[in-house]
Amino acid sequence: MPYSAMRILKEGLTGNRGWRPAWRDAEPGPGYDVVVVGGGGHGLSTAYYLAKTFGVTRVAVLEKNWLGSGNVGRNTTIIRSNYLLPDNEPFYEFSLQLWENLEQDFNFNAMVSQRGILNLFHSDPQRDAFVRRGNTMRLAGADAEILDEEGIRRMCPYLDFENARFPIRGALWQPRGGTVRHDAVAWGYARGADRLGVDIVQKCEVTGFLIEDGICKGVETSKGSVRAERTAVCVAGSSSRVMALAGIRLPIESHVLQAFVSEGLKPVLPGVMTFGAGHFYVSQSDKGGLVFGGDIDGYNSYAQRGNLPAVEDVCEGGMAIMPMIGRARLLRMWGGLVDMSMDGSAFIDRTEIDGLYFNGGWCYGGFKATPASGYCYAHLLARGEPHAVAREMRLDRFRRGHLIDEKGQGAQPNLH
Ligand SMILES: Cc1cc2nc3c(=O)[nH]c(=O)nc-3n(C[C@H](O)[C@H](O)[C@H](O)COP(=O)(O)OP(=O)(O)OC[C@H]3O[C@@H](n4cnc5c(N)ncnc54)[C@H](O)[C@@H]3O)c2cc1C
Repeated sequence: MPYSAMRILKEGLTGNRGWRPAWRDAEPGPGYDVVVVGGGGHGLSTAYYLAKTFGVTRVAVLEKNWLGSGNVGRNTTIIRSNYLLPDNEPFYEFSLQLWENLEQDFNFNAMVSQRGILNLFHSDPQRDAFVRRGNTMRLAGADAEILDEEGIRRMCPYLDFENARFPIRGALWQPRGGTVRHDAVAWGYARGADRLGVDIVQKCEVTGFLIEDGICKGVETSKGSVRAERTAVCVAGSSSRVMALAGIRLPIESHVLQAFVSEGLKPVLPGVMTFGAGHFYVSQSDKGGLVFGGDIDGYNSYAQRGNLPAVEDVCEGGMAIMPMIGRARLLRMWGGLVDMSMDGSAFIDRTEIDGLYFNGGWCYGGFKATPASGYCYAHLLARGEPHAVAREMRLDRFRRGHLIDEKGQGAQPNLH
């Protein structure tokens, strides 16, 4: 049942009796070509592109909870492709291009809103670094501009331009960056995959892997064994725990990241704004709430809730750059479990066990990657080789010394 204006009109005139559930509540079948473990954004988009682009339709997505219960429904919804390194920028630009056609592609309103992203800079060296980043983006086909102080004043006159420690000198501006309604992304991909024949199984926890003669032949779940030619793990903050079931240790730590929403305000922010001298980012939702966040909580955890020191730190960041935020009341906040890799970059790769594949290490930036991550993972699963833009997202890169250290911070997950 495709969604359309005509359909809404017809249903409105006939008592809304013709709507069907957006996806079937499937039970696991005995065997599949591919079993995807984890029904977050990345797992669902993988299933969708497997079926739609690569013609692999005997696919199941096994989710231990309900769809959208993980980070896909907990993030601050920012999309962008403002990366520096050649192993990242083409990937994130590909993702942004997929976002741009996504709603037409899966016939679902995900509220993709390209209102732009401002990365503020506060010193001459930081300006030079952002100019370099902007040039790299443009070389990869992305859009980037440098705004001076006057340009930012026109957009956000209320910022603390003359802050004694962090005066605002300009910004890297990506007009095509923006926000997307996060849980609609899960629902849209789920509905799209379901229509192509994918089984989406909720409340089905993977508890082990069926490994026979060194080859992964499927998974053990809370709903019984499910056999598959290829098993694709995609469980974000639970990566280390799930891969440990196959005896694999990962260069990943799980941390909590919190998000905050203020009461609804009149429109004040044109797009997304990030503070270049501290860790604070903010956008405004269509309902008017300021949606913001900052650093991860500074300890390892598998809990989807955070602690007060991080709240104070994030609010200090907000007050430093945008003092008027102190007058807005905080409406709600929550935590999500982020899979912080040792160099801040992700993995889309096969593992040392034949038939077992891994996608993770997205840190706190994996929402924007959702379309490209699913597409590239599906490419690897269907064709047996990495997609051109995800070639270096390999698990052995630490052994080879080929780190993708976007921020140049070294092996410190809390700093990425
Ligand atoms: C507060 C916060 C803000 C963020 N803001 C942004 C942002 O603005 N922009 C951005 O790009 N990124 C952001 N991120 C990061 C982004 O949300 C994640 O990188 C991305 O969503 C992770 O991929 P996912 O959607 O597949 O994860 P998830 O939605 O977490 O999916 C993983 C799924 O695996 C399931 N699972 C776990 N174990 C098992 C098991 N044993 N069996 C079956 N299923 C299992 C989980 O229940 C979960 O549903 C943010 C994250 C958080 C927490």
